[in-house]
Amino acid sequence: MENSTYTYNKLCNIMEKSYDVIVIGGGIAGSAAAIASAMAGVNTLIIERNSCLGGLASGGQVTPMMHNGIDGRPGRSYINEIIKKKMALEGYGADDHYGNDGWFNTEMIKYTLEEILSDYKGEILYNTELLDTVVENNKIKGVIVHNKSGLSLIRGRVFIDSTGDADAAFASGVTCFKGDELLHNNQAMSLRFMVGNIDIMKLKAFLKEIGEPDILEYPLVEIASVWEATTPLNKVFQRALKDRVIEYPDGKYFQAFSVPGMPGVMSFNCPEIPGIYDTLDTSAVSRGLTIGRKMIKRLYGFLKAYIPGFEKSCIISSAELPGIRESRRIRGKYILSEKDFSERAKFEDGVARTAYPIDIHGLIDEKKLGIKLMERGEYFEIPYRCMVTDSIENLLVAGRCISSTFIAQSSVRIQPTCSALGEAAGVAAAYCVRNKEKANELDGKIVRDIMSEQLKEVSC
Ligand SMILES: Cc1cc2nc3c(=O)[nH]c(=O)nc-3n(C[C@H](O)[C@H](O)[C@H](O)COP(=O)(O)OP(=O)(O)OC[C@H]3O[C@@H](n4cnc5c(N)ncnc54)[C@H](O)[C@@H]3O)c2cc1C
Repeated sequence: MENSTYTYNKLCNIMEKSYDVIVIGGGIAGSAAAIASAMAGVNTLIIERNSCLGGLASGGQVTPMMHNGIDGRPGRSYINEIIKKKMALEGYGADDHYGNDGWFNTEMIKYTLEEILSDYKGEILYNTELLDTVVENNKIKGVIVHNKSGLSLIRGRVFIDSTGDADAAFASGVTCFKGDELLHNNQAMSLRFMVGNIDIMKLKAFLKEIGEPDILEYPLVEIASVWEATTPLNKVFQRALKDRVIEYPDGKYFQAFSVPGMPGVMSFNCPEIPGIYDTLDTSAVSRGLTIGRKMIKRLYGFLKAYIPGFEKSCIISSAELPGIRESRRIRGKYILSEKDFSERAKFEDGVARTAYPIDIHGLIDEKKLGIKLMERGEYFEIPYRCMVTDSIENLLVAGRCISSTFIAQSSVRIQPTCSALGEAAGVAAAYCVRNKEKANELDGKIVRDIMSEQLKEVSC
């Protein structure tokens, strides 16, 4: 490739070392992918533009993992179980005893993912952004990255795009979709924040006093409110709106969760920022972040003045990463759709499962879509073919940017599913390296079988 006519050769450091598997993007999907690949014994590099693993699960402060709605083993995946169990053992994960054991600490997940990956000798390159790929004869030969050392070309055999935005796939010429099929608008973005020094007992007593359901046991607590609801907590929001302490968009979607291993801290799944329709437009997202911080300030003022338990609290942080739920998706060999959700579709090459509802923020009222919610025991599967394309033979795509319609993406985007998809990509990549197979021709049933064998090693 040193002789390639690729113009970047004139500008690039060409890294000596090449890798069997290169994972681009270290979110929950990329981390699971790199762990699965390194665990299978092939040399693996993960490239991440920030300085920690976890993506939205750490830098985006997104916790807890939503339950995928499937009881027991069929809804689980091996690496996600390892992650959750390690965190729970160390006091940074929790089970709410209502079916979700995915409560976790957004700071400590950085350590957990790094520790597991290093146990299997996976390498990490932080503060490094993918700029482009070098493609020859339908095959990615290497990635062009930028960091403080300048531009570098890193060569590999199989590549996993887990950037959330399908950056590597897009750069390689893969056809991609963006937003809804009509206007190409993305789901609403949020900016999460954390508040500390909350008197959780006092908050729980207040919730009880006003008649708000609070089913979780101390120290776990969740509070939520939307304008359409007529809950006791929403009445408090309405009072604050009347008093002009908050503005209408501030209360459109409000939700907060306690965080295991962080006493007195809650993570806020809000504010949901109005008017940002293109999450790939950096200036729009920048505007959204500025609006978001203004909204956080108002919401915090409201909490302190109206909600007992928050009197002596403080804002700890607003998230480092914008809360982008959906941006670009690839067109893969199979496009997962709401029809698959409705029909509870199962596939020979199904590598992940979920019963999580269609959950679109901002644009569409899910109830108007007429899609029947899953009953207990029902679920649909995501085929391996959603992670590979016709055009690039050694590329896998994992996480929230897999091949799906806008509506189907809103069901598969939760962390346990992204993690399962990442694991599938890592298993597939290692298999392809060992067996000299093309990722886009691999029978996904092989991946499914390896994953179910591995899952037998953990108690679920
Ligand atoms: C506000 C909000 C609330 C949510 N609430 C929940 C919830 O309660 N529970 C739940 O389970 N799910 C929730 N989700 C969904 C879930 O968190 C995400 O869909 C999931 O974490 C996505 O994981 P991922 O690995 O696919 O992508 P990301 O987490 O987005 O990871 C992508 C990674 O790639 C890196 N990257 C991107 N581009 C490049 C590049 N060019 N070069 C190098 N690195 C790059 C990024 O820095 C990032 O680390 C929520 C999402 C949002 C936004």
